[in-house]
Amino acid sequence: MSVPVRDVSVFGDAITYFNEAANLLDIDPGARALLTHPSRQITVAIPFQRDAGGLEVLTGYRVQYNFLRGPAKGGIRYHPGVTLDEVTALAFWMTWKCAVVDLPFGGAKGGVTVDPTSLSESELERVTRRYAAELIEVIGPDKDVPAPDVGTTPQVMAWIMDTYSMHARQNVPGVVTGKPLALGGSRGRVEATGRGVSIVALDQMEQMGIKAQGARIVVQGFGNVGSIAAEMFAAQGSRIIAISDVSGAYHNAKGIDIAAAVAHCARNRTLAGFQGGEQISNEQLLELECEVLVPAALEKVLTQENAERVKARLIVEGANGPTTPEADHIFNRNGIVVIPDIIANAGGVTVSYFEWAQDRAGYFWKESEVNERLADVMLTNFAKLRTLAQQRGVSLRTAAYMVAIDRVVTTMHLRGVYA
Ligand code: NAD
Repeated sequence: MSVPVRDVSVFGDAITYFNEAANLLDIDPGARALLTHPSRQITVAIPFQRDAGGLEVLTGYRVQYNFLRGPAKGGIRYHPGVTLDEVTALAFWMTWKCAVVDLPFGGAKGGVTVDPTSLSESELERVTRRYAAELIEVIGPDKDVPAPDVGTTPQVMAWIMDTYSMHARQNVPGVVTGKPLALGGSRGRVEATGRGVSIVALDQMEQMGIKAQGARIVVQGFGNVGSIAAEMFAAQGSRIIAISDVSGAYHNAKGIDIAAAVAHCARNRTLAGFQGGEQISNEQLLELECEVLVPAALEKVLTQENAERVKARLIVEGANGPTTPEADHIFNRNGIVVIPDIIANAGGVTVSYFEWAQDRAGYFWKESEVNERLADVMLTNFAKLRTLAQQRGVSLRTAAYMVAIDRVVTTMHLRGVYA
């Protein structure tokens, strides 16, 4: 039985991927029904004062998709396009992401429909504290642990940690991850997602006989994930021939100076005005001839409209949900290998797990230890799903979902259903 796809929403796409894997596993209809329903969807009003006076109200969400394997876990997105549908899809993906790398977490995600660059620092703080206060009963180290995502930063996590701690009348660093180091953050957390992207990409490139040295890499999105992944590839001697962000895309066949691009972004917030490459469109960037394409911006950028024109040999999904199911089928047919989001960008939540564990123990690890354990988690679980993909003759995406669904269903059967 397939759970019907309700519409072509982001969550609808996510369910399509779930169904493709669940069809290959012997899962009873009840388990399927349970796993395709979010446990809890919360919508809150966020009133806040503008610096110049005047009250405005934003809408915020937190979706706690599943708690079977542990506290819910997932980032918070501040973006004007945030909807309940998108947050639900992201929470759904977090459930499988945590399971595919075998972390003791369920899945969640949060978001506020706002362009954070339209807020002053103090407005951003007020919005964040009110959002955190609205969620105070449902988050916590043993309930649901937020982290950064698009448009949020370690400073935003610091305000959430402080708001929660003031209400609890004690310091509770484990309520969020991705905090500044001085507040109980983990070494290596800022770099973890981009580092994880490069770890699985380099492993797969080796399998495919693509040498890292000189490999042409294209990266869409130059925020936390995209810029760090680009730095990691550059450190291996790869040539980053194009990068992009919300301001546009920049191409340089000889290889972009990534350190210069990072410095430009630090000064100007975006790549606008970057002189290290000729300007092309974001659409052209996705269709460049290259060995590896890393979409690291937002959902639904690789679709049936452009998939046939994609020339990369390997796509590594730094972003969540960048490929629609239609595009995914085209890539499979054309022999383009896709490392799916739920494993490719799982480095962030893996080091978030390390941060949560360090906070609870009150004992902090060296960066080398964090990076070593991260590589071990990523490579062990990636090898497991790649073997399954080979054995069953399925894509890496379907294999990743199969591993994840099997782990969650095993927990569900052991726990039983409280009714
Ligand atoms: P970020 O806010 O740091 O960066 C996002 C980047 O995408 C920015 O450079 C922005 O300018 C760019 N962008 C936005 N719209 C674009 C467009 N239309 N075309 C090209 N670029 C565009 O966010 P991030 O944390 O790097 O997250 C990026 C993706 O990675 C998201 O899908 C997020 O869910 C996913 N992700 C992030 C983490 C994490 O730890 N930060 C972990 C796992 C997955």
